Amino acid sequence: MSDNKLLKGKAVADYITSKSIEEVNFLKARGIFPTLAMIKVGNRPDDAAYERAAKNRCEKCGIETRQIELDENTSQKEYIELLEKLNKDKSIHGILCFRPLPSQIDEKIIEKIIDPDKDVDCFSPMNMAKLMFDDKMAYPPCTAMGVLEILDYYKIDLKGKKIAVLGRSLVVGKPLAILLINRDATVTICHSKTKNIEEITKNSDIIVSCMGRAKMIDEKYIGKNQVVIDVGINFDENGNMCGDVDTNSLVEKVSAITPVPGGVGSVTTSVLISHLLKACKKINSL
Ligand code: NAP
Repeated sequence: MSDNKLLKGKAVADYITSKSIEEVNFLKARGIFPTLAMIKVGNRPDDAAYERAAKNRCEKCGIETRQIELDENTSQKEYIELLEKLNKDKSIHGILCFRPLPSQIDEKIIEKIIDPDKDVDCFSPMNMAKLMFDDKMAYPPCTAMGVLEILDYYKIDLKGKKIAVLGRSLVVGKPLAILLINRDATVTICHSKTKNIEEITKNSDIIVSCMGRAKMIDEKYIGKNQVVIDVGINFDENGNMCGDVDTNSLVEKVSAITPVPGGVGSVTTSVLISHLLKACKKINSL
């Protein structure tokens, strides 16, 4: 695979992390110790993996973490009590609620309880609304923001560009489309009911796939000189991690492409940290 076409996530994550370390030092010099609380209900392997990655990134930056693991039978009342306590706790600057929550806890209720100022992964509808208004104090979902960070780091111009976003979930596709529109791109959102996706992707300058369909994007979807961003995390028939894009067969046909693993996924936790530091500064009126 020709390495010079790969938009690797590590360089982007390292860049964001180095800026975060400077900010942590600035805050610590003023007696402020940025702290992230993470609430997990039960112990799902994907939550545990993300929690580990977030904790490692925090440690790299000198940020404290408070990891809270609740029993999988935790009631809604108990969850709300904990969240309200963390909302009020002045030593906590950001709260990450692992989702989906178990069925006895109604996410539609919880999303309105988390303090929007501490909501570092856009759980609160208030933060989603801020995103719509292009409010710079919004905390866009970390993965969607990670895509933007990659495009910016590799100096891929967005203004006036035609971008196909494949997927319309609230965690990736929809917020990403808004972020890209806010940056003057012309965005087409595709989903499972979209007809002739190939025509839309072929005529785009940039394709971002966030469908969760292993290696679905092949030559049929590709035009000329395109940038392809692969958000998907899937496992192929041999159990190996892969994206939505058949990267090996496309790398010579595109102008640039993110690998999986080693692409978008590696940037997410560094975005989480930058949101935490933004929250910490806001809470401390800095
Ligand atoms: P999701 O909630 O399942 O949404 C998938 C979206 O893709 C839906 O909008 C769906 O359309 C659309 N879709 C599915 N199959 C399609 C098809 N054949 N043609 C067109 N559209 C199709 O998934 P998600 O949470 O957004 O996650 C998407 C992928 O990103 C997953 O692989 C996930 O693991 C990965 N992910 C990665 C990171 C990271 O850090 N890299 C973070 C979060 C998620 P409908 O709306 O019509 O159903």
